Amino acid sequence: MIKIYHNYSISKKSYIHVGGRVKTYCECDDLYESIKYLKNKNFISIGNTSKILFNFSYCSKLFFCFTNKKIVFFKDVFFAYSGISLYELYFRLKNKNITGFSLLATIPGFLGGSIVNNSSFKEQCISDLLIKILVFQDNKLIFLSKEELNLSYRNSSLKKDNLLIIGGYFKIIKGSKENIKKEFLLANKYRLEKQKFTFNSLGSTFKNTEKYQIGKILDNLSLKGYIFSKSVKVSPLHANFILIKPYSSSKDVNNLIKFLEKVLYNYLGEKISKEIQIINKDGRE
Ligand SMILES: Cc1cc2nc3c(=O)[nH]c(=O)nc-3n(C[C@H](O)[C@H](O)[C@H](O)COP(=O)(O)OP(=O)(O)OC[C@H]3O[C@@H](n4cnc5c(N)ncnc54)[C@H](O)[C@@H]3O)c2cc1C
Repeated sequence: MIKIYHNYSISKKSYIHVGGRVKTYCECDDLYESIKYLKNKNFISIGNTSKILFNFSYCSKLFFCFTNKKIVFFKDVFFAYSGISLYELYFRLKNKNITGFSLLATIPGFLGGSIVNNSSFKEQCISDLLIKILVFQDNKLIFLSKEELNLSYRNSSLKKDNLLIIGGYFKIIKGSKENIKKEFLLANKYRLEKQKFTFNSLGSTFKNTEKYQIGKILDNLSLKGYIFSKSVKVSPLHANFILIKPYSSSKDVNNLIKFLEKVLYNYLGEKISKEIQIINKDGRE
């Protein structure tokens, strides 16, 4: 089924409930209806928006979310559609004794956005078992092999407009249901201890580098728990996380990010890349 909304308040869809109106927001769980609708249009694909700051009061673009959550199993591989959450993916694979996703299940994203960001948690990365993906691009459905995605730490060449990941083929590795569940519970416990937040967040604000653990650096600079405004602050548990009250102004969030960026630049003498992806009124930053 396809749902199309005009002059839509994107804060309703936003993971942190922040952002203004967009010209059009569309979600659809059917592959052929999605393609028919997107043909010859410019669009920005979104998933669970757990990494996106919508930083505008109005944006004249079309935002599209593919909500198909199906998994199709073959002998040694499975194909998962990109609208499935990483938790549901883990849960359904666990029931078939398939391992490799139990730590990733604690990341609050959908599969499509997680492939784009090459999401990882501890020793599991979404691309570990990935073989190839199916995308809609240039009005065509095409397969892209893992090697064509230029995957690196929290990055890929898929972070762009007018591209929709339909889903991906992954290798099947069998394991015991008990161990798979145990791994998930341990990872979840770790999250609850280290990242128990009273407000929402978009995960790590900046990317760590080989040289720098950004959370530690911001902590050393006494920025842990730093209150920037009534609705936006640095987490008192993890200095690379910003905590955001629902329906805060996106300007407030963006200003805190800019402030931290400047502090890091002044201290390290080099620019540190943001992990949060900002969409301004004219599009991606
Ligand atoms: C509390 C918290 C903890 C987190 N912990 C981790 C962690 O441990 N490790 C980690 O790697 N990340 C972590 N994240 C970040 C985030 O959850 C992941 O990057 C996530 O996988 C993104 O998925 P999403 O569906 O929310 O994508 P979105 O935020 O919606 O989108 C991310 C990017 O993907 C694009 N996109 C989304 N869907 C599609 C699609 N179907 N086709 C084409 N492009 C698409 C968007 O345009 C955007 O560029 C955390 C976030 C939070 C809030």
